[in-house]
Amino acid sequence: MLQIHVSEDCQHYAQCVLEAPGQFRLGEDGLLQYAGVAADEALVDVEAAADVCPMRAISIVAGWPS
Ligand code: SF4
Repeated sequence: MLQIHVSEDCQHYAQCVLEAPGQFRLGEDGLLQYAGVAADEALVDVEAAADVCPMRAISIVAGWPS
């Protein structure tokens, strides 16, 4: 499993939503929503989301116990 964390630096620009819509979405309030854990198979998408985040707000821990 992957553990995903988004820091308080997030400005809700939503680039991560475009890169990994299965992991991130914007709520009706305009704030980012994400589950915080994902299957290992999502690593490529989550890494792509982290790479495009202008705030470098996304961190990933691989090898999280399932
Ligand atoms: S791309 Fe970064 S700043 Fe934008 S919503 Fe996602 S985590 Fe937040």
